[in-house]
Amino acid sequence: MGIIVQKYGGTSVANSERIFAVAKKVTDAYKKGNSVVVVVSAQGDTTDDLIVKAQEINPDASKREMDMLLSTGEQISASLLAMAIQKLGYPAISLNSFQVGINTNHTYSNSRIKSIDNERLELELDKKNIVIVTGFQGINKYDDVTTLGRGGSDTSAVAIAVALKADLCEIYTDVDGVYTADPRVVKNARKLESISYDEMLELASLGAKVLHNRSVELAKKYSINLVVRSSFNDNEGTLVREVKEVESMLIKGVTSDKDAARISVVGLADKPGVAFKLFSLLSKKNISVDVILQSIGRDKKKDISFTVDTANLKEALDIINENKGALEFEKVNHSEKVAKVSLVGAGMVNNSGIATKMFEALYDASVNIDMISTSEIKISVLIDEENVEKALVAIHDKFQLDK
Ligand code: ADP
Ligand code: ASP
Ligand code: MG
Repeated sequence: MGIIVQKYGGTSVANSERIFAVAKKVTDAYKKGNSVVVVVSAQGDTTDDLIVKAQEINPDASKREMDMLLSTGEQISASLLAMAIQKLGYPAISLNSFQVGINTNHTYSNSRIKSIDNERLELELDKKNIVIVTGFQGINKYDDVTTLGRGGSDTSAVAIAVALKADLCEIYTDVDGVYTADPRVVKNARKLESISYDEMLELASLGAKVLHNRSVELAKKYSINLVVRSSFNDNEGTLVREVKEVESMLIKGVTSDKDAARISVVGLADKPGVAFKLFSLLSKKNISVDVILQSIGRDKKKDISFTVDTANLKEALDIINENKGALEFEKVNHSEKVAKVSLVGAGMVNNSGIATKMFEALYDASVNIDMISTSEIKISVLIDEENVEKALVAIHDKFQLDK
């Protein structure tokens, strides 16, 4: 018995039948004497559909109005789930982020949770209610609705688990747990029994959308017991946890991110301070830069290539072009048809053979590598977007991750 926070994603609450299946899982946990808070996402493709609707009206809609619109999806599923639970004969109440008091910073569309007021949640739990909360959203200092970025309901769930000091946070989704690769792409991907916070954080940040990366960050910071499992069966899921000792060398998985775009600034002056100037212009606008490649100088010139999120591409190009005078480059080109493929596992730094083996897998599959970046816990390569599936399968096979 304890406090459990459960989160159900879009597919898990897609229709009435699914909502009753979720209601059954929720009430099973409640019947055991637990205090249960449930966080829900919008049903099925609701969020995507709302974005299409907005674009029909105004492709340049403000982020504030987008948040107002997108937040409605979760309100629908929260109230429907409360109705289903009540129909099964159990007490339930749905609350939106205003009613709970989920406070975020003022940024629209990619907001961060600053604090959660426990009062209302605890009051409802004391009354023995099952509390259903709208995921993916909060309220800023202007009392406006904000959203946490796509996939943000996971973060809502973990943040509530932190606020309530919950014993367990279960993320229910449409696959059985965290796999060595996206099981929809790599058919023989293997479910992991457990994964460390750090490895999960890398996988999530590098494109494995099974968990929102900020949810993992929060879970790590507050040592939340986090489990990813399916809402479609009773199989055991994957435990995300702290690992004390890093086992020799364990590759956890391979993942891809198609939301990357490459920018190349060609013919920059080959002198100190150039990279600093370029990247500080971007960081001032909060544009984060990922894989970076700088060429060796020739004829007092050099090139710098780097990746940004596709969503930031236009703004990044505008900034660079506006500063052509100060940066003194010859030209800038870009490509959106690139993707990042990454191999993740703690202890990589001690094993030089890993990178070679990954490059060999890509060579065998005739996939050309544009850029490479490595860290203690991952190796990423930038490749043509059209080769992603092929590359994932080749790397997964090479490292025999199904075993
Ligand atoms: P939800 O709507 O429940 O939040 P998401 O679609 O956001 O679900 O995330 C679950 C999906 O993540 C799975 O259907 C799967 O295709 C994808 N996925 C990508 N990489 C992985 C991975 N390594 N392990 C498991 N699922 C993954
Ligand atoms: N409904 C939101 C989205 O589609 C949040 C989520 O699913 O976590 O991004
Ligand atoms: Mg999700």
